[in-house]
Amino acid sequence: MLVIVPDECIDCGVCIPECPADAIFGEDDMPPGQHDFIKLNAELARAPGWRPIVRTVLPLPGADIWNGKAGKRELLERKWPAGC
Ligand code: SF4
Repeated sequence: MLVIVPDECIDCGVCIPECPADAIFGEDDMPPGQHDFIKLNAELARAPGWRPIVRTVLPLPGADIWNGKAGKRELLERKWPAGC
């Protein structure tokens, strides 16, 4: 999973068609039931240990297995205080 830093995003939309998992949406185009990802994205963008991606890397092991899998949100482990 990766997140976008809301304060740095200029809403150009270039990343949307580039995402191989079709997992990036503009705030006005969020699919039903996905709006809570806006808040989660902002939280994770500030979370300790989440570092910027500065170079192209291969997909992580299991990426295809997790792509589109339902119920992943509940499996997210927060190892920092909520609201941090
Ligand atoms: S490419 Fe995506 S994340 Fe980067 S500024 Fe544009 S919309 Fe924001």
